[in-house]
Amino acid sequence: MSVASILNHKGRDVVTARSSATLGEICKMLAEKGIGAIVVTDDKGHIEGIVSERDIVRMIGRSGAGILDLPVGDGMTRAVVTCREEDSINAVMARMSSGRFRHIPVVAEGKLAGLISIGDVVKHRIAQVEQEAEQMRSYIAMA
Ligand code: AMP
Repeated sequence: MSVASILNHKGRDVVTARSSATLGEICKMLAEKGIGAIVVTDDKGHIEGIVSERDIVRMIGRSGAGILDLPVGDGMTRAVVTCREEDSINAVMARMSSGRFRHIPVVAEGKLAGLISIGDVVKHRIAQVEQEAEQMRSYIAMA
């Protein structure tokens, strides 16, 4: 199963922000959209970074709530690990696990084309395991 099968189901829209947005504005977007990370892009749609709720909590813990007035460009992760639609879900899971992050932007032709979260991967895996169990039950019932 590939990343495309998740995107076909959940859609390809990604919540993005510019690097000049403040961390306070990012918090508002995270809360309003009910999401855990925002991809920072330039005006051509190229990925510049990613910021997650975890980054913001860490920054507030270290430096206080004053950081909410800083631009997200000062606090985001710039070395973003991405994947492609053709990548397998297992490969994406392995990348999330070894990098210890829960979000992977999908890139097509150099541009942002979707986002996979750990929640999407877990949901997909549970559906797959349930389907396999159902197939086993029918096979046993037929024997
Ligand atoms: P998360 O688990 O996604 O909340 O992110 C944990 C940390 O990894 C934060 O510092 C994020 O900025 C960073 N991060 C999240 N996603 C990625 C990614 N795809 N590539 C690189 N770093 C990431």
